[in-house]
Amino acid sequence: MNPDPMLRQMRLRLWLAAALPAVLVVLVLLAVFVQRHGHELLQAKQHQAQAVAKQLASQAEFALFAADVQTLQRLAGATKDSDGDLVAVALRAANGHFQAGAGRFGAQLPDFSGNRVHLNGDRLWVIYEVRSQLMAVDDPLAAGLLESGVAEPVVLGYVALEYDLSAIQRSSRQLLLWALAATGLALVLAALLSALIASSVTRPVAHISDVVRRIGGGQLQARADVERCGPMAQLASGINRMAGQVAVTHEALKLQVQEATEELRLQKLEAERTARTDGLTGLLRRRAFIELADAEIQRCLRYEDPLSFIMFDVDHFKAINDNHGHACGDAALVHLAELLREQMRESDLPCRWGGEEFVVLLPRTSPDVARHAAERIRSHFEANPVRWEDRSLRVTASFGVAAFDTRDLSLSNMVARADVALYRAKRNGRNRVEVAEGGSAAGFEQPVT
Ligand code: GH3
Ligand code: MG
Ligand code: MG
Repeated sequence: MNPDPMLRQMRLRLWLAAALPAVLVVLVLLAVFVQRHGHELLQAKQHQAQAVAKQLASQAEFALFAADVQTLQRLAGATKDSDGDLVAVALRAANGHFQAGAGRFGAQLPDFSGNRVHLNGDRLWVIYEVRSQLMAVDDPLAAGLLESGVAEPVVLGYVALEYDLSAIQRSSRQLLLWALAATGLALVLAALLSALIASSVTRPVAHISDVVRRIGGGQLQARADVERCGPMAQLASGINRMAGQVAVTHEALKLQVQEATEELRLQKLEAERTARTDGLTGLLRRRAFIELADAEIQRCLRYEDPLSFIMFDVDHFKAINDNHGHACGDAALVHLAELLREQMRESDLPCRWGGEEFVVLLPRTSPDVARHAAERIRSHFEANPVRWEDRSLRVTASFGVAAFDTRDLSLSNMVARADVALYRAKRNGRNRVEVAEGGSAAGFEQPVT
């Protein structure tokens, strides 16, 4: 996984926050340690050199006084041999008349005067005065004079020592290298530790932000692995709970939307059905009928199938309304629609044309068959009176039948011809079937019963 820039930056900052103090502390400690150690080594060497010079001075006092060069030579040799760092030892009389020594001085020694310590590169020189202290011990007069301060101890000569400090400096350098190596190691460890600390924080953050991104992208089942989140476990489980809530809410909303969509679909279907069908009789309305009839006409024209049309109008319907009330008129219409349905084939299209007028389209039906169908309907009406308030009302209708003529080319011509036939039926006494001119059906008359 490639962490995003924000996480990379966070990791770097955490890493710096954890590593920087360690780096600084280590560097300061190293500097102090190296500086102090070098200084202390040098100091110790100087003290040691001074102590050696002092001791040699006291040993050489008498020999200097006695100008015993041989003893001085022996003392110088023994002193030089006592310390590997000591490269040269010299014992010189104060007046410079004689001198004894061991080893070779590396360079021109500084002036022999006073007690001095001189550092030059890797060389340390110590010049030490040899005074007549011991003489004073043996000579009470001299001791008295020295004590009272009347007489100064006489300078008999000088001790000169030259030390080679290169071994000390080498060990100092070696120590520095070791210290540097240890520091480097400590820094690497600190860096690794810091990286570990940084990633222990950023890894859970990366994991959690990945989960949040997935949830945001719609994967509502995504959950953070709480055990992987260490110090951020609480945040992770909080996000998991939140995601759970979001998923539940989402599901609930989805369900609500589904229900609402289904309700809308049903409402739409119902609205369409209401728009297409008549509320009272449940038959097709005129507009829906015309759409279907036009399609049927086109189909019949293409396959040269016969097609017929029946139109009927309830006889003296106004009288039913007037005599028994409008509700009774409605009930009569519902009853007739039901009777009509009983006489229809699956392929027929019945329709409430308007008011108490009805039509039926009969696809693949010859005029003759249509005329018989109209007659069947008519007699079915006649035989099944409407029941209204314990009464039985005979309701009849007059029928006009028209066959589709290829010259018609449209529904309206056929309707107009059926209408004419219907009015002829009305004129001829009602409760009868008349066949329109055109088409192949002959007129069919039924006497009023
Ligand atoms: P005809 O035999 O000549 O057809 O006489 P009619 O009385 O049936 O004809 P008319 O056109 O004079 O009267 C039709 C009546 O049908 C008038 C109208 O009030 C009634 N009508 C139309 N639609 C409805 C309806 O939905 N319910 C009721 N109850 N009456 C309706
Ligand atoms: Mg009418
Ligand atoms: Mg009528």
